[in-house]
Amino acid sequence: MTGHVLEFLGETTLELGPVGEAKGNWRTGRDENNLLWLVLDKTGSSVNTLSEDMIRELGEHIVAAEADEPAALVIRSAKDAGFAAGADITSFEKMSDAGAADLLRQGHDVLDRIEALRCPTICVIHGAALGAGFELALACDYRIAVSGASFGFPEVQLGLHPGLGGTFRLPALIGPTDAMTMMLTGKTAHTKRAKSQGIVDAVVEERHVGAAVAAAAKGEIDRQSPGLTSRAFGLAPARSLAARQMRSQTEKKAPKQHYPAPHALIDLWEEHGDDRAEMQAGEIESFAALLKTDASRNLRRVFFLRQSLKEAGRGEDGIAHVHVIGAGEMGAEIATMAAIRGKTVTLGDLETEALGQAVRTAAQICKDKHLTGPETRDALDRLMPDPNGYGLSRADLVIEAASESLDVKEKIFGGLAAKLKEGAILASNTSSLSIDALAKTAPNTARFAGLHFFNPVSRIDLVEVVRGTATSDDTADRLAAYCGAIGKLPALVRDYPGFVVNRALVPYMLEAMVLMDEGLSKEVIDTAALKFGMPMGPVTLADQVGLDIGLHVAESLQESLDKSMPTISDALRQKVEAGDLGKKTGQGFYDWSDGTPHPDADLGAAPEDLTDRLILPMLNACVEVLREGAAKDADQLDGTMIFATGWAPFRGGPMHYAKARGVHNVTDRLKQLESAHGPRFTPDPGWSSIG
Ligand code: NAD
Repeated sequence: MTGHVLEFLGETTLELGPVGEAKGNWRTGRDENNLLWLVLDKTGSSVNTLSEDMIRELGEHIVAAEADEPAALVIRSAKDAGFAAGADITSFEKMSDAGAADLLRQGHDVLDRIEALRCPTICVIHGAALGAGFELALACDYRIAVSGASFGFPEVQLGLHPGLGGTFRLPALIGPTDAMTMMLTGKTAHTKRAKSQGIVDAVVEERHVGAAVAAAAKGEIDRQSPGLTSRAFGLAPARSLAARQMRSQTEKKAPKQHYPAPHALIDLWEEHGDDRAEMQAGEIESFAALLKTDASRNLRRVFFLRQSLKEAGRGEDGIAHVHVIGAGEMGAEIATMAAIRGKTVTLGDLETEALGQAVRTAAQICKDKHLTGPETRDALDRLMPDPNGYGLSRADLVIEAASESLDVKEKIFGGLAAKLKEGAILASNTSSLSIDALAKTAPNTARFAGLHFFNPVSRIDLVEVVRGTATSDDTADRLAAYCGAIGKLPALVRDYPGFVVNRALVPYMLEAMVLMDEGLSKEVIDTAALKFGMPMGPVTLADQVGLDIGLHVAESLQESLDKSMPTISDALRQKVEAGDLGKKTGQGFYDWSDGTPHPDADLGAAPEDLTDRLILPMLNACVEVLREGAAKDADQLDGTMIFATGWAPFRGGPMHYAKARGVHNVTDRLKQLESAHGPRFTPDPGWSSIG
């Protein structure tokens, strides 16, 4: 056999053993020591996602290996992007109709065969091993991680739990407590944690993979063995006790009524956690049943909504240097996200203290995002405080994130014409001012648009790319591509009061204040929204956004919209006047003195129409936004609301929810609310064209 193939992919050189060209989705070869290398290389894709075909082909390779057993089997990926990003979710759609359990059984059979091979089986993982990819790794005797590798079971985010043996192989490997936490939360274990938890047996740099594989093949690497806790949970009473605790913790984050999957997993483990064969049969049955739930269908829909927003962010942005004006709460994070993703960034502010704070924020974000030391150093090197604005003349994109005042922004824009580089794009992060109004003072209206990030920028993926009347296609496309380049999801929307997200959210928050004026406690109001599935109640949200910002957005919407809106409550104005602005000042409607809101116990009963009073105005605003052509279509709108606000993902988005509930049901209810509470509930004329 000839020498090993070293694949040059970007800056990485992957040790792939002696493999030849791909046949199907795998490349295979045996080396001089009779090690059989099976390398995943999904055809036509830069990422490995495990499809039915891939598993079937793997099965054929394993059957061949059983007949002519090698000294060791090595499994790894040829993709620069990592090991495997999980199962191919498009295949779930077919599976949910029929035969899911049969297909799962075939997959289990292949992994069981790998496990049963007499020779050592070694999985080498670089990048992410998620879902089914992680399960494949778990079926091997050894897991060798290349630095930077990560492991996780994100299935809960799809309304599922692991379905290819993860539910029993991971607990057997690292103990049920850590394993269940990983599966229930969907959280990823990065290399260091994966090593300390016992998920991996060795961590090496890529250049040492060959040596580590050789050592594992000879049994010279110690394998992790499960601790005492695993044995303790072999007893049903211990499992029941732990399951009860897991249920109560899970219920807080993912109520069973909305998110059945984690609860099904707990049931499965409680019932069968001491018997692998029963766990295996139960896992298949439970996974197949979950596939058919509305929650899973809707969460899979959310996955595809993300993909389609991502698609809008592909393409070349032509932006190497970004200058950000304003280093406040938003500007600091906008600059950091650009620097992390490789842009050269200059950041200006009138206040030097703001620039110092921005650099501290950047360092914290790098830490939160688990960047390595060199990655953090490089990102911080690329982020340059620039109080004199020298970067303006070199920037391909200037993002204005200064204070929310037409006057301030007009003054800034007025001074830019002579300073900007030829062809540079100017974008404003305004949350409430009209892009067309701002364009009047912009140096070039075709190369001006809104780029509306959400707070906190480092955690919220969605960005509204707001086209003004004069914004050119090229500018809008490049801004969308820029969002893609910095890891964000662009929603191309039209200049409209509140754009899309705030247009829909403002009535939700204002109605909550009307309800408080009527005497309802904020806790009852917020609880109703949480029960519906919103990530945060409207009063907490208003405090979190900042009551001054909320008031400003609400006033500007009221001025510019020809629609009835809830009256802005006196309580809100009084809070703003008193400087009680919410989370940022430690006091809003809630006490935030330690950074979290302190609700009292539920005070009082909820009126029967409470939830609809909060939710239906949002749906009504969404329909208006569609009718006005401010959003592209209902899917884009659903994705926008989910990824900007966390809108009840298990319901598949506001428009999807409206359709699932029934358009007539929604409009009839709006009419009832209209007669009880006034014209702010009048159904939008656009409902007639919602299918
Ligand atoms: P902020 O008050 O935290 O920061 C504004 C910064 O701009 C301050 O540091 C200030 O010193 C600086 N600044 C003011 N005038 C300037 C000038 N002429 N040149 C340079 N710097 C100047 O405000 P923020 O919350 O970061 O908001 C910034 C923009 O982002 C606003 O337009 C706001 O509407 C928008 N926005 C805010 C949020 C939010 O939740 N905070 C969300 C989305 C959009």
